[in-house]
Amino acid sequence: MSKYGDWEPVIGLEIHAQLLTKSKMFSSDSTSFGGGDNENVSPVTLGLPGALPVVNKKAVELSVKVGLALNCKIRHFSVFARKNYFYPDLPKGYQISQYDEPLAEEGFVEIYVDGQIKKIGITRAHMEEDAGKSTHHGDFTLINLNRAGVPLLEIVSEPDIASPAEAAEYARTIRRILRYLEVCDGNLEEGSMRCDCNVSVRKKGTQQFGTKVELKNLNSFRFVEKALEYEIERQIMVIESGEKVIQETRLYDSAKNRTHSMRSKEEAHDYRYFPDPDLLPVQISENWIQEIKSSLPELPIYRARRFQEEFKIPEYDAFVLTQEKDIADYFEEVAEQSGNPKAASNWVMVELLREIKESKKEISNVKIQPKQLAQLIKMIDSKQISGKIAKTVFAEMWERGQDPQFIVKEKGLVQISDPSSIEKMVEEVLSSSPQQVKQYREGKKKVFGYFVGQVMKATKGQANPELVNKILKEKLGD
Ligand code: ADP
Ligand code: MG
Repeated sequence: MSKYGDWEPVIGLEIHAQLLTKSKMFSSDSTSFGGGDNENVSPVTLGLPGALPVVNKKAVELSVKVGLALNCKIRHFSVFARKNYFYPDLPKGYQISQYDEPLAEEGFVEIYVDGQIKKIGITRAHMEEDAGKSTHHGDFTLINLNRAGVPLLEIVSEPDIASPAEAAEYARTIRRILRYLEVCDGNLEEGSMRCDCNVSVRKKGTQQFGTKVELKNLNSFRFVEKALEYEIERQIMVIESGEKVIQETRLYDSAKNRTHSMRSKEEAHDYRYFPDPDLLPVQISENWIQEIKSSLPELPIYRARRFQEEFKIPEYDAFVLTQEKDIADYFEEVAEQSGNPKAASNWVMVELLREIKESKKEISNVKIQPKQLAQLIKMIDSKQISGKIAKTVFAEMWERGQDPQFIVKEKGLVQISDPSSIEKMVEEVLSSSPQQVKQYREGKKKVFGYFVGQVMKATKGQANPELVNKILKEKLGD
């Protein structure tokens, strides 16, 4: 029996992505947050009488990009609508959004769960503007409208998601795509990507949906998963105790790992949506759509599949290496130039990603160029240096960004592959360790490792390990 007994969860996500434009959705105010409070606020942002909004073309272009990447139909005419509600951080008294004629709809995204690809339907993706930000200080509240009017794309999924883990993977996949497309930085902590989760439960095998609850305030993928876990259990308990789930919005409290009611859910008619009379419909030509389509990069899930096939690397490696576009680009170059994709994958996944993580660097600031890492791999493959020495060279490259050949020469790290000099060292080690030789001859084969270690020590790790092994065996009469 599964985790939830004879119940099953039904989940749909609404993701808000802040679009990476320089100016706001309907005004030339800057979207940068570096400045002081309420600096980026023109009459349009403030909703002053007579101020007129003008659509930001870049925001439309970025939205079309996402729509296409999510396999949506793009509307040639889409309409901005006013969503009316009152809140102090919304000076106009309405948010400009899209309602019944959104920019993009009826798409899907493929996510990778339990080793398989699953399709999640995308209901719609529509453009809207953000509200301002209120901060509460004891008995007063401050409002900063810098964020008001910043362009957002809201991506609404179908209720196709079947578990909390799947929801988190869906959200990660959307984030990866947004970052690949360079339309959103996907920073959950800073709120440039926000996930609201809708969840209900129903008896397994039934078709009808239960009453849904919307969860807000989920600023990490882990919290998406944990909040849903909690909420599903809560709903099952409510129903099993004979009560009814109330349709409402609940907030997740990560410190207590529980959800609590924020407000009862509004219905669409509460917002009195109507087309914004200040804005013309957005008209998008088929030509422009095709132009944007041809500029789309290869998306992560498909790139991973190609890496697996083309470079014969394991599925897991391909998945890790395609999480970020710049890492994938880096790896692909190393793989091609070194002619050894498996080694390239190991060096990028293990050494490079570890250093990047520890130093908190962006890959664009890494001193080692893909070409140089490829050279290092070639030097190992041609037995100029051992894998162990290569790690030392790599550390130097990381610090200084020089070519591996230069470092190897400078530090005198070239591998000793001359049999006669290795033979000499082997003889020295054996003659200075009579005790161990005796043990070995009496059958204690483990001592072999000791001899290898001694030879390597004598050569500062530079002796070709295969040769050392071979010559030691000969000398010991094996
Ligand atoms: P609302 O009108 O409350 O905004 P929508 O029908 O627009 O509701 O759906 C909002 C989100 O909730 C979508 O992501 C959708 O997939 C999801 N959803 C809708 N109904 C349910 C349900 N019964 N259980 C879980 N999720 C649902
Ligand atoms: Mg809705």
